[in-house]
Amino acid sequence: MTTNVPERLLREIQDHDRFLITSHIHPDGDAIGSSLALARLLATLGKSAVIWMRDPAPTVYRPLPGNDAVHIGETPPAGFPEAFERLVVLECPTPERAGLPAAIEALPVLNIDHHLGNDDYGVVNWIDTNSASVGAMVYRMAHALSAPVDADTATLLYLTLVTDTGGFRFSNTNAEAFEAAASLMRAGACPETVSRWLYESQPAAVIKLVGETLRTLELHANGRVATVWLTREMAQRAGAREGDSEGLIDYPRSIAGVDAVALMRQVDEASYKVSLRSRGAIDVERVARGFGGGGHPNAAGFTLRGEREVLFRQTLDALTEAVEA
Ligand code: 5GP
Ligand code: MN
Repeated sequence: MTTNVPERLLREIQDHDRFLITSHIHPDGDAIGSSLALARLLATLGKSAVIWMRDPAPTVYRPLPGNDAVHIGETPPAGFPEAFERLVVLECPTPERAGLPAAIEALPVLNIDHHLGNDDYGVVNWIDTNSASVGAMVYRMAHALSAPVDADTATLLYLTLVTDTGGFRFSNTNAEAFEAAASLMRAGACPETVSRWLYESQPAAVIKLVGETLRTLELHANGRVATVWLTREMAQRAGAREGDSEGLIDYPRSIAGVDAVALMRQVDEASYKVSLRSRGAIDVERVARGFGGGGHPNAAGFTLRGEREVLFRQTLDALTEAVEA
């Protein structure tokens, strides 16, 4: 069962007028969709909200309503911190995940998340691990605050459900997710628009990147573990940009008999971002936590510094152990 919005969180919203909103580095659909939707909801309540993200959204999310106004980078937005009373942090199990230490230190934090092992680092913490997306939690906030949800906001919130459940396919898909989706459609959400953004707006570079990446595909543990990797050189060859690798991991994941997948992506000279996915009882959150990362039981990640071959071996060994446990 999903949980209700804590009274204390509702009061924090009601009692303040100027909000800063942030989410995690390398934002995904839930991070960007829930941030944009929350900013719109706060506006309908007569409050101001600025979204500050360390990284830009992947190309496919550029057409989202309000995305152009998002403040990006490590330099604070105008008036920071005096212009703001509260910082809403969405989707970040630890404050470090936001990648904006200045923001976290300067303002009281309202922490809203659905990840396991959230550190409860806010003045208020609403953590609902049963919620399919943080966007679905923002939708519950809208009801609790009696904030009207317009068609664009409904579409943004619907998008968070689609991206975090993999199009209502993953194990986090629950009845509440479908109920929220139906209710959002009645509020004007347009699934066709969301599908066009997500599945029919890829730059050609992304498809070339799929080709580059799939050439690295290997199967291990009698075909139960699949791995792929991606270097900056490969990304350059494809003409890809930061964020263009989202969704790449779904290809190896679609292979029959594969129970766990790792995608290792080079982020700079000596550091690699590893994404893990699994089926059923295989717990990749635990694997990721072992490397200082986190996530959900069937979708997790972490970042490591070192030689690709060494990191690859360590990741593969840990993943194989989890699969064979
Ligand atoms: P992705 O592989 O799509 O980047 O992330 C999958 C899931 O793992 C998401 O829920 C994401 O929040 C989580 N995750 C990915 N990387 C990290 C990380 O470095 N630290 C933590 N705590 N969670 C991560
Ligand atoms: Mn999420």
